[in-house]
Amino acid sequence: MSGQFTRFISIAQHQMSQLIGKTRKSTALALLTLLALPSFGLAVTTLAGDENLLANITNLPLPEMPDMSQKMADFLSNRKEYAVQIPSDKYEPRKTKNQPLLVLHETTTSGRKALSMVKLPHYKASFHVLVMRDGTMVYMVPPDMTAYTAGVSQFRGEYDLAMTGRRTVNHFAYQIEMESPADGYWCSESPGVRAGVCVDGGGRGKTHSGYTEQQYMAVAWLAKRTGVQPSRITTHHAVDLSGTRSDPRSFNWDRFWEYYRATEISDAGQRISILPQPVYSSVNPEPPQE
Ligand SMILES: [Zn+2]
Repeated sequence: MSGQFTRFISIAQHQMSQLIGKTRKSTALALLTLLALPSFGLAVTTLAGDENLLANITNLPLPEMPDMSQKMADFLSNRKEYAVQIPSDKYEPRKTKNQPLLVLHETTTSGRKALSMVKLPHYKASFHVLVMRDGTMVYMVPPDMTAYTAGVSQFRGEYDLAMTGRRTVNHFAYQIEMESPADGYWCSESPGVRAGVCVDGGGRGKTHSGYTEQQYMAVAWLAKRTGVQPSRITTHHAVDLSGTRSDPRSFNWDRFWEYYRATEISDAGQRISILPQPVYSSVNPEPPQE
């Protein structure tokens, strides 16, 4: 509230100064009210008697004050999106009776390395979209298909059973990977080291330097487009049942919600349809007999 009030006062001051410069007839009155009256409220009351003066205030242009919505609009008008083909064994049709869920992850490698790892035949993990440090969005698994990223997991008691018989949220989750900052890499990026092999202990801390503004804007926009309920936007750490996943580390929820609230979905982005397939009825069956 105080921010809005400050902005209002600052706009009023800006308008008043322009008015003083432009309206010779009213200059004396404007100066008098600014200097003599202790509060802006009183000044407005006094000025209300002069209809010409008020009309002039209303017609003056607002000063340039970009807010979250403007930043988001600028980001979207310059956004970069790519779709990458990955092997078809990296995803499968969704089989779930649960409502859509949105799960946030981080790569713990560079974005380029994460992309190359998903293309490897022996590497099982996959995700729907990768958000690079500059906000570039790289789409991989189609949104109506299951991506394998969350592993053994459940969300507030909701899960499906994977082929292995283990609980997982993968079948009803839209999974977003964010590229980690360099101080958050877990594995060596050295040339000659096989992808996915960790040769040092770098970046294994509980925190790192965090994500970029562009990443927050991209993730907020993607989240809004999915139509997933805000209460069902979560993290890998929160759904993990293995006790080994802490991603995305150093995620700033306040920043995310600020951009989420500032995001309007119009012709700037089509909806992401997560569950267009018929909902399966035979979900959460008994685990297969050994
Ligand atoms: Zn993860």
